[in-house]
Amino acid sequence: MTVSHDDSRPAVTWSDAEGTHATSCTYLVGSDGDRGVSRDAIPDGVLTEYRYDFGYAWLAALVEAPVTGDAIMAVSDHGFVGQAPRGPQRSRYYLQCRLEDTEQDWPDERIWDEIRLRLNDQGIQDAAVVEKFFVPLRSVVRSPMRYRNLFLAGDAAHLVPPASAKGMNLALFDVGVLGEALVAALRDGDTAPLEAYSDTCLSHVWNYQDFATWMTDTMHDAGDPTQHGIFRQMTARARLDQPVQAPHRRLACTASTTRLQLRAATPGPGLG
Ligand SMILES: Cc1cc2nc3c(=O)[nH]c(=O)nc-3n(C[C@H](O)[C@H](O)[C@H](O)COP(=O)(O)OP(=O)(O)OC[C@H]3O[C@@H](n4cnc5c(N)ncnc54)[C@H](O)[C@@H]3O)c2cc1C
Repeated sequence: MTVSHDDSRPAVTWSDAEGTHATSCTYLVGSDGDRGVSRDAIPDGVLTEYRYDFGYAWLAALVEAPVTGDAIMAVSDHGFVGQAPRGPQRSRYYLQCRLEDTEQDWPDERIWDEIRLRLNDQGIQDAAVVEKFFVPLRSVVRSPMRYRNLFLAGDAAHLVPPASAKGMNLALFDVGVLGEALVAALRDGDTAPLEAYSDTCLSHVWNYQDFATWMTDTMHDAGDPTQHGIFRQMTARARLDQPVQAPHRRLACTASTTRLQLRAATPGPGLG
């Protein structure tokens, strides 16, 4: 599939079992994720990319073991670990790891040893690991979220680290704003909301990036002190112990000497 944009209209070309097809349209929404092709239609120099790399990754491991109780996000001296339900019989664990780690560094036995260590629970039993992948933690914002009549939405325009659990929320916000703007343009001939689309969404995106950076830094700095040092670990733990200062930073937190368990007190989807 390729996307292009000449002087007036965006166009898409794609191939399937029946051959190659092409179409052009008045407006095109590029909602094909971070690795999609929509952005390829935008000439160099149009988009500014703002990027922040946190310096570590998550190993995501899908296992044949359900979550017992609530989803968990926990920090320990050995690093972050999270667990979220994936159907009645499975769950996905997220383990903080090095950016350069590969599957060879994480045989199944090590995954379970680290889970037990980071959750301080030697009673957790090994189970089959059916999938593993690595997610480098990073934040990206591409601005503007538009080139002529091509509109970027969701991960095609921005990424937040998964620790914040906000990427899908942002994608849905974008298409909600864009849907209403397209209706106004096509039904009422009012293009003002389309003109405002990028500014409207970017203001929302930066607000969420602020939250995502705060939450990601806090949860990882509070854990493994080899990451950013013991001073940052202590300040992050103090932050976790604080009652909440801002509504969007509301966390319920219970602490023991070796383990902190966090639950978002504001509603939102579980980890992806
Ligand atoms: C480990 C992890 C955990 C996460 N947890 C959460 C969470 O708890 N809460 C949350 O809100 N967000 C979470 N996210 C983020 C969330 O998954 C994304 O932000 C969201 O999926 C973005 O939606 P999107 O539609 O923009 O992009 P995508 O979900 O990437 O969808 C893009 C679609 O376009 C398709 N596509 C791309 N290129 C082509 C092509 N050339 N031809 C045809 N199709 C194409 C892709 O196959 C895909 O289906 C998590 C992400 C990760 C990695």
